[in-house]
Amino acid sequence: MFALDNINEFQLGITTYCNAGCPQCPRNILGGKLNPKLPLCHLDADIIKKTFTDAIVKQTKQIFFCGSYGDPIVHPQFLDIVEDFRSKNHSLYIYIHTNGSAHKKDWWMSLAEIIGQNGRIDFNIDGLADTNHLYRKNTHFEKIIENASAFISMGGIAEWNYIVFKHNEHQLKQAEDLSQSIGFKKINFRKTGRFLQQDNLEELDKWPVYTNNKIDYYLEPTTINAHKNRSISNLSKLKQEYGEDLYDYFDSTPIKCDACVGKKVSITAEGLVLPCNFFEHNLYDLRFDDQSILPSSNQLHFDNKQNQVEKFINDHNPSTLNIHNSSLEEIFQNPFWNNLVDSWNKNLNNGRIFECAFTCGKKLTKIWDQHELTMEKRFAITGDSKGLGKYLKEHFKAEGISRSTNNLDITSQQDIEKIALDSLEYDVFINNAFDGPPHEPWANYGQVNLLHEIYKQWKKHNKVGYIFNIGSIGANTIVAPEPIFETYRVAKSALQHASKQITQSYKQNIVGFKCTLISPDRLDNETTRTRSNWTGNGIGMKDLTSAIEWCLSCESNTVVDEISIYCNLLHNV
Ligand code: SF4
Ligand code: SF4
Repeated sequence: MFALDNINEFQLGITTYCNAGCPQCPRNILGGKLNPKLPLCHLDADIIKKTFTDAIVKQTKQIFFCGSYGDPIVHPQFLDIVEDFRSKNHSLYIYIHTNGSAHKKDWWMSLAEIIGQNGRIDFNIDGLADTNHLYRKNTHFEKIIENASAFISMGGIAEWNYIVFKHNEHQLKQAEDLSQSIGFKKINFRKTGRFLQQDNLEELDKWPVYTNNKIDYYLEPTTINAHKNRSISNLSKLKQEYGEDLYDYFDSTPIKCDACVGKKVSITAEGLVLPCNFFEHNLYDLRFDDQSILPSSNQLHFDNKQNQVEKFINDHNPSTLNIHNSSLEEIFQNPFWNNLVDSWNKNLNNGRIFECAFTCGKKLTKIWDQHELTMEKRFAITGDSKGLGKYLKEHFKAEGISRSTNNLDITSQQDIEKIALDSLEYDVFINNAFDGPPHEPWANYGQVNLLHEIYKQWKKHNKVGYIFNIGSIGANTIVAPEPIFETYRVAKSALQHASKQITQSYKQNIVGFKCTLISPDRLDNETTRTRSNWTGNGIGMKDLTSAIEWCLSCESNTVVDEISIYCNLLHNV
């Protein structure tokens, strides 16, 4: 899983310095004093340039500048570093997270020119002029807006990330309007999981913020349900199922490693290559030394009083995991990576890493809830082994369901029941697999039967979520049954009708989940391109992902019953 050839993205924490003092950031103690355990350093540009050779950068899809303990824009060589990556690969996606409150406008304009259209900056702005500084302490709203505007004016692509707290929840519409007027591509309202107290797994109702060694004010979680962190909202249900300490859950939950799914690793400002920022937190967050420091740590983070992740890293000779001493090729030879993957199949008492179960388990995922639209949601898709299903699976980082992936077959009633029960764990279910026209001996409206079963289970469990059915425009044309019935159209029509019935259930307030049918014309993929009727035209599969994302972004009271996508099959421009 972790091999250099397989890595698409490197997440670079190039500095532990920052101009801000966010009260829930581990580089400082509750917005006050600097964390004394944190090594203050910048990762030198020459080391980065030497490590990221032309060949490595060419095979990399994304460089993400986002530190666990620092903001990349305060690195004194930042423009030089970004320029070096751009010169080595013009299509590399350069992605940056920043508070945006340093430098002058011309610096931001230069950055926009270097990045070009293959990249983006997410500005972390948690409120407006009178509220942003309550979380992004020491930053200046007007300056951030000026910098973001300068970046956008030079063609830079920017999004606005906004953590919703109680103190800024009344400004969402105003922020949205402002983001549009400035030219942000979109605004993402983030559901923070940082109020989760990790020793007792309870949500804190307030978080003290220190200035000059005294409590200055408190942060509070949002009161708006739609913006609450989903994992935290699920905690009480999880405790009923597994007990207060969730030991049995952490001991057994399947681990879906975010780093593996995204084919990415993280490099710290000290040059250490780790799978993710969560590992780096275990090295320096003071709450692992002193559990009274919020948000505390869990007793399962420790093995004989020693931090388990820190020990795991130290047991693998960390100097050989560091780009100051080793090339990336050498670093991935370290048994660290295979031992990490092996640990996920163990129990807590024989080597399972608690941080992995805590962060990337099946029912409590600290990671997802804070991120942007599609990452917030957990997707499952049937028929993921080829064509559209494979494409959607990769795009949405979905859990695949098929005979080849997990031996589940939508023509088997027993398997249909299992898929429907498993689907309760996901937010979005894409009913894509088509078992074949019903005249075939193996097929019998499997896609429709699966939809019926999912509806039954989701209704029974009062589930909120989204079902997408992949239909076909073939269902819209009625033809004579000559020489035989066109049973493909019959099966897709049955799906169309069943899907629209579920849409009506949502509209009539019978169920809390939405359902949309997506009916494409001929698709452009490896399979359709080899067919004799291929005319050189087909629908690009990214148009289907856009359709799904658009449906997911609609207002909560709004549902789309069907999207038909046609293609000019003779298009020759
Ligand atoms: S801007 Fe980022 S690195 Fe800086 S204090 Fe805030 S969270 Fe930490
Ligand atoms: S916490 Fe563990 S499972 Fe999650 S991304 Fe990091 S290494 Fe992977």
